[in-house]
Amino acid sequence: PPPSGPRPIRRLQESVINRIAAGEIIHRPASALKELIENSLDAGATSVKVTVKDGGMKLLQIQDNGCGIRKDDLPILAERFTTSKLSTFSDLKRLTTYGFRGEALASISYVSNLTVVTKTKTDTCAWKACYSDGALTPAKAGTTADPKPCAGNDGTTITVENLFYNTPTRLSALRGSSEEYARIVDVVSKYAIHNPHVSFTCKKLGTPSPDVSTPSSSTTVQAIRLLYGQTLAKELLHVTISSTDKKGANTSNLPDQQADDEDEDDDMGEDSEAWSAEAHFTNASYQAKKMTLLLFINHRLVESSRIKRALEAVYNGILAKGASPFVYLSLQIDPRSVDVNVHPTKKEVHFLNEDAIIERIADVIQQALIGQSQSRVFEYQV
Ligand code: ADP
Ligand code: MG
Repeated sequence: PPPSGPRPIRRLQESVINRIAAGEIIHRPASALKELIENSLDAGATSVKVTVKDGGMKLLQIQDNGCGIRKDDLPILAERFTTSKLSTFSDLKRLTTYGFRGEALASISYVSNLTVVTKTKTDTCAWKACYSDGALTPAKAGTTADPKPCAGNDGTTITVENLFYNTPTRLSALRGSSEEYARIVDVVSKYAIHNPHVSFTCKKLGTPSPDVSTPSSSTTVQAIRLLYGQTLAKELLHVTISSTDKKGANTSNLPDQQADDEDEDDDMGEDSEAWSAEAHFTNASYQAKKMTLLLFINHRLVESSRIKRALEAVYNGILAKGASPFVYLSLQIDPRSVDVNVHPTKKEVHFLNEDAIIERIADVIQQALIGQSQSRVFEYQV
């Protein structure tokens, strides 16, 4: 029956608010994994091992050999807005990591059972800590919540169990475990291609052979061949583009943006417009049913419907109707030209001079594709 009058307004509990917020940030196992992989890469890992049970809903574990976490930092590790990557507001402008400002581990701790085992090079043993609702929690009843010493290698192992156990609607919105696992494999494969110097594995718990396995000193093309197959890899073209092309150079690198430039105002001029891109993409002889686009902006896997549309338009003029390409595109732009202070759920990115940059990239790719098809014709005639 309809209420007879207005109901009283009540303040939501902090933990309820945080759980709702976490569900908006961490959509599914693969989005949690993406954050954890980025943390491992930020920690300088050269090996990243992913183990999954039940599509990541029961267990999602990521083991890295990165720098580890200091024991003293463990108590605040999973608090919201705690980070080692940013301290002042102006840091936001030079940050190359965007999206989650100390929110990933916190969010995960609100919607799962989170365990961290970590060891820095100078620690004599590893430390194990369990988290719930942003704070340390006892591993089992009757024990303290303090981190406990344990055996372990240098680096960090993050274990996420029972994801979304306390947010049933989120859990029921997920697909079956095989589809969630496929998304996990997809994320691992994409990061493996973008980081060919890092070894990645991904497997289901209890199975002997991994579904993804890359060596630690590979190249982008080798990694694409390994993960997407030789049929695709043999049709790849490669271009590098940079904003300084206009001035004649063909593959010049960006000036070192990360260099300590205390004098920021000087840099806001010309340099903040500098960008560079690298792409590996299939030629006219390769035809897939669906387009595969691996888009990294400043080393983060992102989506951009404008870039996708621009690439589709280029290939529309080159491939037969219904055929689609594979494109890996890594774009580096000045971190100051990406709006990092947007809501973290924005997977879609926008950046300064977007139209001009996209047009230039599409142009170069189109030129390469046309040049390639002409040389094919030429070969054929000889
Ligand atoms: P952010 O990455 O935005 O800082 P997170 O919640 O993802 O926020 O991580 C919080 C902090 O925990 C990081 O800043 C980092 O210091 C530490 N951390 C997380 N994962 C790792 C890891 N795999 N290795 C080393 N440090 C880590
Ligand atoms: Mg992070």
